[in-house]
Amino acid sequence: MAFTHVCLWTVLAFALTWTVLYVTNRKKKATELADAAAEERRDGASDVIIVGAGVGGSALAYALAKDGRRVHVIERDMREPERMMGEFMQPGGRFMLSQLGLQDCLDGIDAQKATGMAVYKDGKEAVASFPVDNNNFPYDPSARSFHNGRFVQSLRQKASSLPSVRLEEGTVKSLIEEKGVIKGVTYKNKAGEETTALAPLTVVCDGCYSNLRRSLNDNNAEVLSYQVGYISKNCRLDDPENLHLIMSKPSSIMLYQISSTDVRCGFELFPDNFPSIAKGEMATFAKNTLAPQVPPKLRKIFLKGLDEGAHIKAVPAKRMTATLSNKKGVIVLGDAFNMRHPSVAAGMMVLLSDILILRRLLQPLSNLGDANKVSEVIKSFYSIRKPMSATVNTLGTAFSQVLIASTDEAKEAMRQGCYDYLCSGGFRTSGMMALLGGMNPRPISLIYHLCAITLHSIGHLLSPFPSPIRIWHSLRLFGLATKMLVPHLKAEGVSQMLFPANAAAYRKSYMAASVF
Ligand SMILES: Cc1cc2nc3c(=O)[nH]c(=O)nc-3n(C[C@H](O)[C@H](O)[C@H](O)COP(=O)(O)OP(=O)(O)OC[C@H]3O[C@@H](n4cnc5c(N)ncnc54)[C@H](O)[C@@H]3O)c2cc1C
Repeated sequence: MAFTHVCLWTVLAFALTWTVLYVTNRKKKATELADAAAEERRDGASDVIIVGAGVGGSALAYALAKDGRRVHVIERDMREPERMMGEFMQPGGRFMLSQLGLQDCLDGIDAQKATGMAVYKDGKEAVASFPVDNNNFPYDPSARSFHNGRFVQSLRQKASSLPSVRLEEGTVKSLIEEKGVIKGVTYKNKAGEETTALAPLTVVCDGCYSNLRRSLNDNNAEVLSYQVGYISKNCRLDDPENLHLIMSKPSSIMLYQISSTDVRCGFELFPDNFPSIAKGEMATFAKNTLAPQVPPKLRKIFLKGLDEGAHIKAVPAKRMTATLSNKKGVIVLGDAFNMRHPSVAAGMMVLLSDILILRRLLQPLSNLGDANKVSEVIKSFYSIRKPMSATVNTLGTAFSQVLIASTDEAKEAMRQGCYDYLCSGGFRTSGMMALLGGMNPRPISLIYHLCAITLHSIGHLLSPFPSPIRIWHSLRLFGLATKMLVPHLKAEGVSQMLFPANAAAYRKSYMAASVF
């Protein structure tokens, strides 16, 4: 009995000593980290490191610096990017830009106003404009198109004009991690030296080819197709205030004015039918197969770039659902975090909306050193962004699918139904354009219009009378619409999209700013 007591007391004494030592050690470690953080602050170190000064990194740097944070942005190439992406800012994106105080970044870059879209199919054409009387949208209902590189430079200049932003040229190699918490990055600076930067919060914003996201989650991007394009120089569209969308075969063609003298010409292709650019086969394909389908009033401009030997580029169109990393002290944003088909030209809009949400959630935190609190903010951010981002992502999937020509009658009926619906005028056109323009990117509106398009297409298939073959195609069309959307909605998370836990409270508190 006495022996048992001795053993018990010994075990208890051990347990107690271990607990005291563990707690003291943790406290010491926490104090050391807090001291190190305080030391870094005294040294003028940063509160936030941002990897990449593209659209997202630059806009975020500006927003956080405006809130008093010291921001260190590391960008691998400070020259003006020459890219074929991010050239069309929807009205919703312009509104977000204005909410961030960055609206003037679209001034002085020869950006062109766009009031809607001219759509062409089988010799017919119609104009679908952004609604001007949308009471839910408190901003000018027009888009802007521009050279992406000029816009990015303008954002970089604006961010680096703030004293608390340090924009440095360097290539980030890896994230520094300590027990599941990201402490900063290692990078190669302009002089070629390997060095490190530490901060309580690291934001990975290194774009669609992100290397760093791989160390944070196992999210994989899916390549859907390729966007091929070139610029026709020294010309002006007859109707430069509309983006011109031609529903051609095998897929759609787009033309839009990106400066007072330059027109972007682009089309979508799939890997199974991809002529070589280097061997000149792509230019031949565009001239022989696509140009005859371009309406005569646009054809000259479409051919101009090809005839003048414009540089043809191809960029993969990717889709990637957003996934949270379980690491602390880090957040991934922009294309490194979430991508959708570019047919809806909305990547920058979603990104700017994300920045606005994140910034507002971080505002109450006086310092970002508490990794647990920041982690909570990031989780809220993830659910608050859902309704808007998932709406745009789903729209991207649906819209890109109906733009692909097919010999399948059911698919073709869907395509025709979409054209008819979008171009019918009245509330259908304004509803769809409000969705596409990011003026009303709400899940319920999306579901309503997608169901309406499906029913409209079925009605088209069944008319003038419902023969057995037409009924069969209608059932297939319904199946196709379901197959197209259900897996996508599942991946986005239907409940988070429709009933996000924190979004209602958030929206209520920021109603004045009308964040969607
Ligand atoms: C074909 C195509 C067309 C599109 N068209 C539109 C459109 O019209 N409208 C629209 O709203 N969206 C469009 N998008 C989407 C849009 O372009 C993106 O959503 C947006 O540019 C993403 O911004 P970002 O800041 O995440 O990435 P980016 O703007 O690509 O910036 C990433 C930055 O990180 C830097 N970087 C990368 N790696 C490192 C590293 N290791 N160290 C340091 N720096 C690094 C890069 O140099 C770059 O400057 C399109 C996309 C595609 C593919």
